[in-house]
Amino acid sequence: MSQPDVIVIGGGIAGVATAYQLARHGHRVTLLERGELAGEASGVNAGSIDATGWGRAPDLQVHLTTGSLELFQALQGDEGHDIELRSSGYLQAIHTEAQLAWARERVRDLTARGHSAELLDASAARKLEPELNPDLPGYVHYPERAQADPVKATRAFAEAAIRRSARVLTGREVRGLRRDGRSWRVEAGEETLAADALVLAAGPWCAALGAMLGLDIPIVPVRGQMWATAPLPARVGHVVGSSESVMYWQGAPGGDAATPPFLTHRGSTRVIRHLYGRQTREGAIIFGGDRQLAGFDKTPDATGIVVNREHAAEVLPFLHDVPIARTWAGLMPFPLDGKPLIGRLPGHEQLYIVGGLASSGFGRGPMAGKLVADLIHTGAPHPVLAAADPARCVRPRRR
Ligand SMILES: Cc1cc2nc3c(=O)[nH]c(=O)nc-3n(C[C@H](O)[C@H](O)[C@H](O)COP(=O)(O)OP(=O)(O)OC[C@H]3O[C@@H](n4cnc5c(N)ncnc54)[C@H](O)[C@@H]3O)c2cc1C
Repeated sequence: MSQPDVIVIGGGIAGVATAYQLARHGHRVTLLERGELAGEASGVNAGSIDATGWGRAPDLQVHLTTGSLELFQALQGDEGHDIELRSSGYLQAIHTEAQLAWARERVRDLTARGHSAELLDASAARKLEPELNPDLPGYVHYPERAQADPVKATRAFAEAAIRRSARVLTGREVRGLRRDGRSWRVEAGEETLAADALVLAAGPWCAALGAMLGLDIPIVPVRGQMWATAPLPARVGHVVGSSESVMYWQGAPGGDAATPPFLTHRGSTRVIRHLYGRQTREGAIIFGGDRQLAGFDKTPDATGIVVNREHAAEVLPFLHDVPIARTWAGLMPFPLDGKPLIGRLPGHEQLYIVGGLASSGFGRGPMAGKLVADLIHTGAPHPVLAAADPARCVRPRRR
């Protein structure tokens, strides 16, 4: 029986980023993934990376976004992995006068705090992205936002971890967890592994792992879905989205004891449209946006795809004439209170979680992994982790 310092469960972006940072610190680390690396949300997302710069008083969100962007840059630049990272910027469409007033206020607030964002009229935005709809009232330009290939990026973090002596084992489903004296015992496939510390990085399956430990971890699966055109010549350079949902959620986030905030649907009823997309290096235009509770069902909802395509074509009119070549869906790990869970889990020694990264975990996962790895290494949480402390919401399971 081997005994690494740390076992990480989950081969998505959160798990591989954690394993990489632990290996950089010199820990012996084993990552266990039940399927393939990037086999779930971390491999099927849009690859959009949120960032507005560090600003003057960086909070948790700024650390997760801008900090992760720097880690992606190091992965591609210093570690030499081609992850298709581009500092493309992001253009967020404004459809109405109410959204224009909201966007003006948002840009004022962000820039006052030292972040980068600017409000453009359609003609200025079309100088950056010529296919944008000239008839919309404006666009918010976020110059620091970026994009990368999610599968390549997730696998690259794993490869970088392996180069620093981490063990990454795929096809190993964790079926049992227990604390035995000063060690964790982890049943995975035919093997039982032992480690001093354990990190849960299993996306929406963190709740199932928590149940093995008698913990109620309030993270639920939310279906996100996307569609893609066939490869086209280069036509869209930025990540492109819409302010419609962002403004709506600011006023009415929604959510209750069983439903996370920031969804596009209540049950089967749509409450708002949401939109993000980009053109990949191989030329496909990919868009998505819906966030709906559907258990662990990963079947795309055809009606939602039609609504999303209409929304995309309002922003990029040429999309009216381009057929959809394929659709897919994945499961986003949404925390019920809308805030990530990064840190120590209560009630057990040497037990950590990096989870609940919701709809933007690709862009926030690298720094989330670094923050939890640094905590394990130093024993002291970074001050921004107070906002992600799992103790606020994780409870013993009722029998
Ligand atoms: C359609 C869609 C579009 C998205 N677009 C974006 C975007 O543009 N930008 C962005 O930042 N985010 C986006 N997201 C969100 C992002 O993909 C997720 O937040 C992120 O990938 C979550 O990463 P994770 O590592 O926490 O979880 P996951 O990727 O789900 O990884 C968890 C892993 O744990 C493994 N696992 C589970 N149980 C076990 C077990 N018992 N034993 C061993 N292994 C186990 C799973 O197989 C899985 O590989 C999108 C998501 C979707 C679905």
